[in-house]
Amino acid sequence: MSVATESAPFELAPYKSLENDELSKRIEDVRKRLGSKLLILGHHYQQDEVIAHSDLRGDSYQLSQMAAASTDCRYIVFCGVHFMAETADILANRPEKLAERDSARVTVVLPDMAAGCSMADMAAIEQVEDAWADMSELIDTSRVIPVTYINSAASLKAFCGRHGGIVCTSSNARAVLEWAFERGDRVLFFPDQHLGRNTSLGMGITNEQMPVWDPYADENGGNSEQQIRDSKVILWKGHCSVHQMFRPEHVAMFREKHPGIKILVHPECPQEVFEIADEAGSTGKIIQTVQNAEPGTKWAIGTELHLVNRLKSEHPDQEIHFLSPVICMCATMYRIDLAHLCWSLENLEAGHAVNVIEVDDETTKWSLVALERMLQVK
Ligand code: SF4
Repeated sequence: MSVATESAPFELAPYKSLENDELSKRIEDVRKRLGSKLLILGHHYQQDEVIAHSDLRGDSYQLSQMAAASTDCRYIVFCGVHFMAETADILANRPEKLAERDSARVTVVLPDMAAGCSMADMAAIEQVEDAWADMSELIDTSRVIPVTYINSAASLKAFCGRHGGIVCTSSNARAVLEWAFERGDRVLFFPDQHLGRNTSLGMGITNEQMPVWDPYADENGGNSEQQIRDSKVILWKGHCSVHQMFRPEHVAMFREKHPGIKILVHPECPQEVFEIADEAGSTGKIIQTVQNAEPGTKWAIGTELHLVNRLKSEHPDQEIHFLSPVICMCATMYRIDLAHLCWSLENLEAGHAVNVIEVDDETTKWSLVALERMLQVK
C-alpha cells in the first residue's frame, strides 16, 4: 500500500480497502513496537474485532482511570466515543500527573472523530447555560445542584464543577443525588432523563416533582412556572438512543415465550421498562450479575447489542437473549473499525497523531472539581 510522505499524516482512504487480517497484523505490529507506552482502550459496547486489540476493556470511567494510573503510558487510543476520550485526557493529563512526567502530556486519540454520543449531544453547554439563566428567574439557582451523568461533554462537567455540582455514573447515581440533596434544595440532572428519573423515583421523588426541561421549548423548558417552583429534580430532555428502544412489550413477549426468564436492564432504559425488570444496574453490574448466575439461568438483557452478544458467548451455560426484536447498538461507537484503528495507530507511531482529543486547561480544571466530588461520594 502506498502511504503519505514522512511529514504528512497518512490518508485514511487506503486503509479502508485493506482486509481485516492485514489490518489486524499491522495493529499488532504497532502495539509490539510501542509496548507499554501505548494503551488501547476498548469500551464494553465496542465490536469484537476491535476489542481483540484492546489492552483494557471496561466502561468509560473505569477505562480512563486505569489508563491514567499507568506510569508508562504516553499514548491512549480510546475505542469508545468522544466524551470518553475527553475524560481520559482530563484524568491522564491532570496537573499532578503532568508534574510526575515533567509536563509531558499523554496523547489521547479517538480513531474516528464522528464517534460521538447521541445522548451527550442532546445537552450543549450553551443550552444548559441558557436553561440555568431562565431557571434563575423562577428559582434560587444557588440552591440548585447540577448533576451531570458521566456520558456528557467535558464542558458540562466543568459547568457542574463551577456551580457546586457533581458528576455521576450509572452505578453511583443514587449516592450522588443524596450528596446533592445534602447541599441544595433541587437538582438539575442532565443529559439522561431516564437515569435521573429512575434513580429519583427510587428515592421517593415523584414524577410530578420531576419536570422535564426541553431546551427547544419556548418558555421554561416547556413547563409552567409552578412546575419549576414545585420541582425537586429538573430532568434534561435527553436520552440514549440505544436504551430508549427497549419497550414494555418486549419484556412481556420474553416472559410469555420463555417462562422463568429474568429481565436485566440498564437504568438508561425508560421508566416503563426499568420498573418491570427483575434486575437493573450499570454495565458493570449487568456483567457481574450474569457472571454470578447459576448455569441454566435465562436472561433477556436490555443494553447495547455487542455487550449482550459477548456475554452470550462468554457464558454458554446460560441462556441469554437480547431484549428487543430490533437491533439496538451504539452506531456511533461502531464507527471505530479496524481501518480507523490501524490508521490512527500508524499515524501516532509516525509522529503525526490524528484525531487528538485535548481538553483546554480551564475546562479540565472545573471538570476535575466535579469528578473529584464524585470520587468523595461513598
Ligand atoms: S450507548 Fe448511548 S449513551 Fe452510550 S455512547 Fe452510545 S449513544 Fe451514548
